[in-house]
Amino acid sequence: MSDHQFDIGIIGCGPAGLAAAVNAKNKNRDIILLGAEICSPPLHKAPTISNYLGFPSISGEELRQSFLGHAAMLGIDIIKKKADNVFPDEDGYMIISQGEMIRAKTVIICTGIPYRHTLKNESDFLGKGLGYCATCDGPLYRGKDVAIVGYNEEAEPEAEYLSEICRKVYYLPLYKKDPTVNPKVEVIRERPLAVEGDQAVRILKTSKTQLPVDGVFIVGAETSPERLVPGLELTEHYIKVNRNMETNLPGIFAAGDCTGPPYQLSKSTGEGQVAGLNATKLVLKMKS
Ligand SMILES: Cc1cc2nc3c(=O)[nH]c(=O)nc-3n(C[C@H](O)[C@H](O)[C@H](O)COP(=O)(O)OP(=O)(O)OC[C@H]3O[C@@H](n4cnc5c(N)ncnc54)[C@H](O)[C@@H]3O)c2cc1C
Repeated sequence: MSDHQFDIGIIGCGPAGLAAAVNAKNKNRDIILLGAEICSPPLHKAPTISNYLGFPSISGEELRQSFLGHAAMLGIDIIKKKADNVFPDEDGYMIISQGEMIRAKTVIICTGIPYRHTLKNESDFLGKGLGYCATCDGPLYRGKDVAIVGYNEEAEPEAEYLSEICRKVYYLPLYKKDPTVNPKVEVIRERPLAVEGDQAVRILKTSKTQLPVDGVFIVGAETSPERLVPGLELTEHYIKVNRNMETNLPGIFAAGDCTGPPYQLSKSTGEGQVAGLNATKLVLKMKS
């Protein structure tokens, strides 16, 4: 772990995160911007955008490139890593990202539409055989049978890791590309539907069969805010914020789709700006 403490750690590199980064960087803040996979899958997918002021008709991809170009012009680097957890540090927060610890005085969460449970009974078995981080909880399943539901290729190394310690590993990819996993991992192209059991997970039910397992991991799905930051107050599934984009936790801000509908670009960039400026204000107050 480096001792360096950033002024602002921004999690998510979509329109909200980029707007927060640009505004904080313009105010000369020392920032770190973490972004999993492509910066903004929704923007990349948007065929034509006709309601972003000043651009009567532009493709999402064109706008995405333009946003990224703007950030690059200011010297903003995007660290292509996923944030797994955020915990309080002595005078700020610690962002845990794929084993690395990053210190920041303040944090802005811009992670997009929050993950919603996709399997029947998912929330009932959370912590009772159902988890989201195979490398964290894997040792509990040594010598046992597990299934991994992989939303993207990010899940493949987790399946490989579990295959070294578990008796049986089923891998259910929810993406088109053929997974690259070792032969000990059994790839099953079936839709996972439900987890079933008693005190703990016993079965993963799929569209065609029932897999007898002791554990189920869901890997690569969007991050749910409560998993990312324990203690964060939500309204339904969304991060509760005030007009300053402050959450209930001091020094933690949120912006964009993760704070709730409407899921729109102008709202996301606007909230990102407000969060970036208010995090800056707070950092300056801490320094004085
Ligand atoms: C098909 C389609 C068409 C659309 N058309 C329009 C339109 O015409 N007009 C309009 O205004 N809006 C439109 N939208 C909505 C718009 O794209 C979104 O509102 C906007 O992208 C939200 O920005 P955001 O930054 O909040 O989230 P996102 O764009 O979702 O960005 C979130 C980023 O955070 C990253 N991330 C998530 N979790 C983590 C983590 N734990 N660590 C690190 N990074 C993480 C994600 O990988 C992603 O890059 C459309 C969306 C879609 C899907």
